[in-house]
Amino acid sequence: MKSDIRVCDAWQNAHERPVYTLSDTCPECGADAVNSAPAPFNPEDPYGEYRRALKRRVRE
Ligand SMILES: [Zn+2]
Repeated sequence: MKSDIRVCDAWQNAHERPVYTLSDTCPECGADAVNSAPAPFNPEDPYGEYRRALKRRVRE
Protein backbone atom coordinates (compact mmCIF):
# COMPACT_ATOMS: atom_id res chain seq x y z
CA MET A 1 0.00 0.00 0.00
CA LYS A 2 1.39 3.38 -1.00
CA SER A 3 1.59 5.93 1.76
CA ASP A 4 0.23 9.43 1.13
CA ILE A 5 1.68 10.83 4.30
CA ARG A 6 4.00 13.75 3.67
CA VAL A 7 6.34 15.61 5.96
CA CYS A 8 7.18 19.31 6.09
CA ASP A 9 10.29 19.80 3.97
CA ALA A 10 11.53 22.55 6.28
CA TRP A 11 10.65 20.99 9.59
CA GLN A 12 14.26 20.81 10.73
CA ASN A 13 14.41 24.61 10.54
CA ALA A 14 10.80 25.50 11.26
CA HIS A 15 9.70 22.98 13.84
CA GLU A 16 11.08 21.03 16.74
CA ARG A 17 9.86 17.77 15.24
CA PRO A 18 8.63 16.48 11.88
CA VAL A 19 5.21 17.82 10.91
CA TYR A 20 3.23 15.25 8.98
CA THR A 21 0.35 16.11 6.69
CA LEU A 22 -1.77 14.65 3.93
CA SER A 23 -1.70 17.84 1.89
CA ASP A 24 0.96 19.30 -0.41
CA THR A 25 1.99 21.98 2.02
CA CYS A 26 2.80 22.12 5.71
CA PRO A 27 -0.28 23.20 7.69
CA GLU A 28 1.88 25.05 10.21
CA CYS A 29 4.46 26.98 8.16
CA GLY A 30 3.24 26.64 4.57
CA ALA A 31 6.43 25.07 3.26
CA ASP A 32 6.33 22.27 0.73
CA ALA A 33 5.44 18.89 2.13
CA VAL A 34 7.39 16.02 0.64
CA ASN A 35 6.77 12.32 0.65
CA SER A 36 8.12 10.92 3.90
CA ALA A 37 9.42 7.76 2.24
CA PRO A 38 11.96 6.32 2.13
CA ALA A 39 12.31 6.16 5.87
CA PRO A 40 15.87 6.42 7.16
CA PHE A 41 15.28 3.35 9.26
CA ASN A 42 13.02 0.48 8.32
CA PRO A 43 12.23 -1.81 11.26
CA GLU A 44 11.05 -4.41 8.80
CA ASP A 45 14.23 -4.25 6.72
CA PRO A 46 14.19 -7.62 4.93
CA TYR A 47 17.94 -7.50 4.37
CA GLY A 48 18.88 -6.61 7.94
CA GLU A 49 19.39 -10.20 9.01
CA TYR A 50 21.40 -10.91 5.86
CA ARG A 51 23.68 -7.93 6.53
CA ARG A 52 24.21 -8.97 10.12
CA ALA A 53 25.04 -12.52 9.03
CA LEU A 54 27.52 -11.12 6.52
CA LYS A 55 29.21 -9.05 9.25
CA ARG A 56 29.58 -12.06 11.49
CA ARG A 57 31.22 -13.97 8.67
CA VAL A 58 33.72 -11.17 8.04
CA ARG A 59 34.79 -11.11 11.66
CA GLU A 60 35.52 -14.82 11.80
ZN1 LIG B 1 6.35 23.23 8.36
